[in-house]
Amino acid sequence: MNGAKVMGSDFDFDATLNEYIRMLERRVKELEAERAELRRELRRYKMELDKLLSPPLIEAIVLSVLPDGRVVVKSSTGPNLVVRVMSDVDVSKLLPGAHVAINQRGSAIVEVLPEHEDPFVRAMEVVERPKISFEDIGGLKQQKQELYESVILPLVEPELFRELGVEPPKGVLLYGPPGCGKTLLAKAVAGMSKATFIRVVGSEFVQKYVGEGARIVREVFRLAKKKAPSIVFIDEIDAIAAKRLDIGTSGEREVQRTLMQLLAILDGFDSLENVRVIAATNRIDILDPAILRPGRFDRLLYVPPPNHRARIEIFAIHTKKMKLSKDVDLEYLASITEGATGADIKAIAMEAGYSALRRRAKEVSMNDFLYAVEKVMKKRKRPYIEPTDVSQEELDYKESSPRETSVMHI
Ligand code: ATP
Repeated sequence: MNGAKVMGSDFDFDATLNEYIRMLERRVKELEAERAELRRELRRYKMELDKLLSPPLIEAIVLSVLPDGRVVVKSSTGPNLVVRVMSDVDVSKLLPGAHVAINQRGSAIVEVLPEHEDPFVRAMEVVERPKISFEDIGGLKQQKQELYESVILPLVEPELFRELGVEPPKGVLLYGPPGCGKTLLAKAVAGMSKATFIRVVGSEFVQKYVGEGARIVREVFRLAKKKAPSIVFIDEIDAIAAKRLDIGTSGEREVQRTLMQLLAILDGFDSLENVRVIAATNRIDILDPAILRPGRFDRLLYVPPPNHRARIEIFAIHTKKMKLSKDVDLEYLASITEGATGADIKAIAMEAGYSALRRRAKEVSMNDFLYAVEKVMKKRKRPYIEPTDVSQEELDYKESSPRETSVMHI
């Protein structure tokens, strides 16, 4: 049918009506789409609201599964609980140590949480069997010998000590200026006794884990036991074990709590268990005497800056993989680097290597080393320079006897 026309005009009523209907149909579609979108949004908000209104779950750690299927967990809020398991939880994942979520009333496990590392573990250096041995350390003959007897041997052949009834020291404290090989010694001890090396830094307890120091000390030792045999190396122990005149501020009380926990653990474990503690400090003078009492860190080892002979050995170690030209005289280099630490010598070797690279040379020459010595030694200021006219043995002897005892009674 043709559209009706209004008399005397061009107005086509039907066409306009059709156009209007199409427009309305489009509008209906738009509104339907909008309604669907709003419904989705509403659902999302409802879900958010549900989340806000639902009580939080409690994290817990599985301790054991009872024969009747119930589970003993240690809740993060404190007590150990005996709980049931919701039917949709995979029971095969409920192994001791698993992290689970229990409902607010603490009556049932509702979910097994994915394995997650405590953030503190990420901050720690954990090396399963470091590949370092005493051969990678120059000098320090006496220290190596003492560490062998007091840490490596009890770990490798505990029955020797048991039979003789000799108790190895529980903890060894290495002290001396920075960069002279304390960490390296501890790593080598772990490497040679095929133990896991776990390094924690004292100052991090104070700065990073405020309020959690004591818990983390416990966690560190729990990890050490899990990965035993292991060596726990506490670097910068002075940060948690410095003597204090008063413990007024809450920060100091917190440090004190961390220290007390460490002492409690040291007191509590049997020295023949296969976890050993080695600590290191540059500031033995400020240590709390409590830490040095027998049964705690009862073996003190001074790690001195290298003397002439030790410097030659350290140069040899750090240039072992380098292609050296014939004129390189390590003995001469050792003689012009008096006061340099092991770390300085490593830096010198690296700098010499770079200098040769810059020249695009095929070998590292003596001139590269002389340039590197100049550069590194000028840059460093070493407050710890020791007289090195005494031999290493004399130094070792001196350090391992009366001086140590006098340091112990601070
Ligand atoms: P800090 O107190 O600063 O932690 P540290 O005494 O623990 O110092 P290390 O970390 O053991 O020092 O040494 C730093 C680096 O210096 C090591 O990685 C190593 O390469 C080198 N170094 C130090 N001493 C020696 C040594 N006796 N023989 C070979 N290398 C050494």
